[in-house]
Amino acid sequence: MTKLKILSETDTSLRILFSGVNRAFVNSLRRTMISDVPKFAIDQMRVELGVFKNEETGELFESNYALSDEQLAHRFSMLPIPTFHDDFYFQDECPDCKDMVVDQRGCPSCQIIYTISSSGEEGGRSVVASEMNVIGDRRLEIPEAYGSIPLTKLFEGQVLHAYFYAIMGRGRDHAKYSPVSGVTFYARQNGKINVKTRSKMLFDLNLNITAKDFNKDGTLNDIDKVDLLRNDLNHVGSGTDLEAQFNDAITLEDVEGEFIFQFETDGSMTARTCLEQACKELAGRFEALSNDFAEAL
Ligand SMILES: [Zn+2]
Repeated sequence: MTKLKILSETDTSLRILFSGVNRAFVNSLRRTMISDVPKFAIDQMRVELGVFKNEETGELFESNYALSDEQLAHRFSMLPIPTFHDDFYFQDECPDCKDMVVDQRGCPSCQIIYTISSSGEEGGRSVVASEMNVIGDRRLEIPEAYGSIPLTKLFEGQVLHAYFYAIMGRGRDHAKYSPVSGVTFYARQNGKINVKTRSKMLFDLNLNITAKDFNKDGTLNDIDKVDLLRNDLNHVGSGTDLEAQFNDAITLEDVEGEFIFQFETDGSMTARTCLEQACKELAGRFEALSNDFAEAL
């Protein structure tokens, strides 16, 4: 039976121990997170062109800046847009928009609109993510933690007036829709003393792990300590002076059916939401598959 134990959790990261699974299962979860968990991202940008006058100072600004429109659009599109899966639809599934032609789609249930109005100053000023304003629901503002993401630089006389349209998509269509970064997993390992006398060589280096950390039978099972042991073993392993002498006196061995899975989100959703959505997507896909089978057989 598949079991899951959370080893550590923050808002945007999770480390989980899976047991009773195989590599293919954990990998399917990883791939689903990267390419199938829906996320909002800016998909269209409308820049107001022209010359603008500051009414107070009489200063003139022009919509002209160093970055090309494409670069600018790319920078904005990679911003983490808060995603609430239960409150929004894909545009082609939105009850109000799905029957419209693609260009006409977009309503409060399937689109989020942001605006920015920034002007430059002498010597240049960085335009950051916190300057964007959402039209509507305040909880869709760019999260405070990501407010300092630099987007472009504006100099004296330059201005950026623009609207941004974010929609929900999937990572398989564009990386901007992928909610995760650094999704990895590895087999859980246990430490094992093979030759007690030679293992002293490692402990004598006074690193993290001592002989006392091991169980009486010469094994080490604690996940955090095994991680430390893995680091320690680099001091006596391949490419070191002690390699030949130490000769694998302590080794790490894979635990059958257990994997440590870890990932971070980009801030558009919590790590827990991302995991739940990934499970939902996978379950949905297998359900569709078994329905197909049932029909075919
Ligand atoms: Zn809609």
